[in-house]
Amino acid sequence: MNADYALQHLIDPEVCIRCNTCESTCPIGAVTHDARNYVVDFARCNACNACIPPCPTGAIDHWQTVRRSTPYTLDDQLGWDSLPTPVEVETAAAADIPDEVRRLTAAASAGVAGSASAPWSAASPCVNLFAPSDPAIARVTGNYRLTAGDASADIRHIVLDFGSTAFPVLEGQSIGIVPPGSDESGRPHYVRLYSIASPRDGERPGYNNVALTVKRVGVDHDGRPVAGTASNYLCNLAIGDEVQVVGPYGASYLMPNHPRSSLMMICTGTGSAPMRAMTERRRRRRALNEGGELLLFFGARVEHELPYFGPLMKLPKDFIDVNFAYSRVPRQPKVYVQDRIRERAATVARLLADDDCYIYVCGLKGMEAGVIDAFRDVCVAHRLEWDSLQSTLVAKGRLHIETY
Ligand code: NAP
Repeated sequence: MNADYALQHLIDPEVCIRCNTCESTCPIGAVTHDARNYVVDFARCNACNACIPPCPTGAIDHWQTVRRSTPYTLDDQLGWDSLPTPVEVETAAAADIPDEVRRLTAAASAGVAGSASAPWSAASPCVNLFAPSDPAIARVTGNYRLTAGDASADIRHIVLDFGSTAFPVLEGQSIGIVPPGSDESGRPHYVRLYSIASPRDGERPGYNNVALTVKRVGVDHDGRPVAGTASNYLCNLAIGDEVQVVGPYGASYLMPNHPRSSLMMICTGTGSAPMRAMTERRRRRRALNEGGELLLFFGARVEHELPYFGPLMKLPKDFIDVNFAYSRVPRQPKVYVQDRIRERAATVARLLADDDCYIYVCGLKGMEAGVIDAFRDVCVAHRLEWDSLQSTLVAKGRLHIETY
């Protein structure tokens, strides 16, 4: 084994949209940034790959073999406009690359285990059409509060119109919003990603617009008061205001298009955005009688904090099977989406085993483990084996998880 060489993790500055996803995902603080670039600290990165799947553009997934004694420094990387040409590794040394390096190279080029491909019948998405250096300009045509006036959460449905600029999107994709101005250290605000809440043919059919579901952030994860930069910027927008938009992003969290395909959708709070897009897509095509079931598990604190509660209640029962889970109803026990999944075990087991059913999870990070545990319990009760089923679901593009 040649210990002189190592695989260095790099971020492509030409593709990176500076959305901060990698820095906030890295469990050991190996990613950092300045006003120009996001970079990886060679001395810290342990190639755990946690940052690879969430990156919307794939800019994060670059690896070069370097001499361990002379890796690219942080200053090198902060100065780049594009990735350097890989340094030629001496032939003898290259033939003796450490096993660990080979394993990482293979993992990097094959994609990270556990990240799903798109459903086989999904439409081809457009990605990375607009970068922060040349964003699309959209105009606000709607900004409605979705939650009741007395609800603690201010969740808004915001409609952005692209006018004559082509900005094609599919349900499940995200777009990036570039808040104007810079932070307290003078760095431009990083791009914030939001899932599209409208179907591919527009919030209003035939219009070149998209809708977003945005919650005004007023406290941080520890409950301390903080004004979320992008969410407050978006929630305060007035009709006619111009917004800089980048993207679209996402090539796997997409819905199937084939007749009789079913959707199992599990979300909390504003994680409902992609579920609304997919449901609305199916609702608009209902007259075509393409079949397939829609099963929705939707968690919120209370009924009046559940975005889209009213419209959801109006949908016919034979079109969508809706299961709400409320966690903060006075004098009621806390109920989470995973509790509802267990209650509906027979239906969930049938759909888990159905090759034409595609499963989407979106919302709080904490729900992910809870939902997986509920699936495992459902499987035990219905003679299915979750671990092998999960691998099959991922391999077939049938399980899609987006949590923050
Ligand atoms: P929230 O109101 O804080 O929570 C929604 C519900 O989830 C509450 O009932 C909450 O219960 C429950 N919950 C908390 N922990 C849970 C767990 N471990 N398992 C299951 N349920 C749990 O939600 P939010 O503020 O809207 O946040 C939604 C998340 O979606 C955010 O992380 C956001 O980043 C993400 N997201 C948003 C978009 C978008 O486009 N806007 C897109 C994708 C994802 P408690 O009463 O216990 O708190």
